[in-house]
Amino acid sequence: MTRMTFTASMIEDRYLHDWTGTRYGVPAGLERPASTQDLVRVVRDCARRAGSLAIQGGRTGVSGGAAPGDRETVLSLERLDRVVDFDTRAGVIIVGAGMILQDLQRAVEVEGWSFPLDLASRGSCQIGGNIATNAGGSRVIKYGNVRESVLGLEAVLADGSVLGPPNRLIKNNAGYSLASLLVGSEGTLGVITRAALRLVPLPQVRRTALLALEPATPLADLVHRCRRTLRESLSAFEVMWPDFVTEAMGRDPTARHLPESFSGVRVALLEVEGDDDAMLGRTLEHCLLAMVETGLLRDVVLSVSSRDARDLWAIREAVGDLQATIRPYVGFDLGMATAGHDAFVAKARERLSRCDPPVRSFFFGHAGDGNLHAIVGPCCTPESRHAVEEALYRLLEPLTTSVTAEHGIGRKKKQYLAHSRSADDIRAMKTLKAALDPHGVLNPGRIFDLDH
Ligand SMILES: Cc1cc2nc3c(=O)[nH]c(=O)nc-3n(C[C@H](O)[C@H](O)[C@H](O)COP(=O)(O)OP(=O)(O)OC[C@H]3O[C@@H](n4cnc5c(N)ncnc54)[C@H](O)[C@@H]3O)c2cc1C
Repeated sequence: MTRMTFTASMIEDRYLHDWTGTRYGVPAGLERPASTQDLVRVVRDCARRAGSLAIQGGRTGVSGGAAPGDRETVLSLERLDRVVDFDTRAGVIIVGAGMILQDLQRAVEVEGWSFPLDLASRGSCQIGGNIATNAGGSRVIKYGNVRESVLGLEAVLADGSVLGPPNRLIKNNAGYSLASLLVGSEGTLGVITRAALRLVPLPQVRRTALLALEPATPLADLVHRCRRTLRESLSAFEVMWPDFVTEAMGRDPTARHLPESFSGVRVALLEVEGDDDAMLGRTLEHCLLAMVETGLLRDVVLSVSSRDARDLWAIREAVGDLQATIRPYVGFDLGMATAGHDAFVAKARERLSRCDPPVRSFFFGHAGDGNLHAIVGPCCTPESRHAVEEALYRLLEPLTTSVTAEHGIGRKKKQYLAHSRSADDIRAMKTLKAALDPHGVLNPGRIFDLDH
């Protein structure tokens, strides 16, 4: 028996909030089970005393889903952090849900495989949290969201029953795909305890380029041309608007060496991967040169080493530092066609310029997959937060755009769910929740509130 129970007064601060730092209440206790059987006992005990669990992965989420509310018991998956099985010939690995993403990436690379999900929070987020949020990250343009890598799951339901063992077959149509239902369910339908994951062969080489866009260049045209020319080698296409670039370059010593041509313009970060270094380099240079010659790009910086590439990525991944300058901030994670990004940013800026008290904003995103991010702050009162949220969400086309492309609804975006999902969709989601967890044992009040 390896179950460890902590009472409220023994709980460390880090278990009380996610990455945003927002707290929602005082939890009743903390459970850190080390096996599925222990976790089943935790869930059953909790259900028996009509309690609720706040399920936690690495707490890098930004929607408030992992943060406990009053009297909820924190259920941390951090001890389920092992490789359970690794078929190195088939490229299929089964891991505990608490395994840190970066540990998983390293473990498979040793054997010549790659787990394609990559996010700046890789050193802390867990695979269970990634699956529960259907995480996206920087390589969605090539590999899709984490959903594409999940073959099967083991999960504990609110009544203590255990789904599994996780499917590990590439093809298996025997009944409903319960794993697909759990992906992106943000801990509201089941606790993910193990995942069977599909790997891809590790690319031998990656190259990164930073592009300074001409002011008139339509972002969507640039993405389209890169996709057409670079084809399946294109693995990331990120974009940053000028304020983001200026602030990030001011904070990152390596970035200061970028040419002046990168100031005051949108900057894209592009990554290609493949097995033939010379051919990859030639294709990339040819593609970028053509775009400079046709006036789409003002300038280009190419990485010549992996250290160089890391320095270029550091500009895009400086987002954590930028957040610190405008705390408390409102984070946006919008989904819309890339062709609409520039116009949206212009309108959003115009609306934000009317905010009182004034706010600063930084726009950036995964342009290759239509995911536009913004951080806006400081928003020190609920009123100013609400004003900023309304300013941007009201600009979204109802139902055909998303208030959350990759972070999830959690607690923070509940009131905006109906912007992106129809009333019938939401009713069906509530029916599922009520059927699988009628007493609200697992993550109650996340995504939506049940009408009792
Ligand atoms: C610097 C930074 C960069 C980021 N970049 C990206 C990005 O590019 N793309 C992206 O998608 N996200 C990004 N994120 C957000 C975050 O890292 C992801 O949402 C991540 O997938 C959360 O994983 P976690 O283990 O930290 O989950 P947590 O924050 O612990 O939990 C997130 C949600 O999942 C639930 N959950 C956690 N584990 C389980 C489980 N085992 N079973 C059931 N439910 C569970 C929680 O209850 C909660 O609702 C970023 C965050 C930071 C801080």
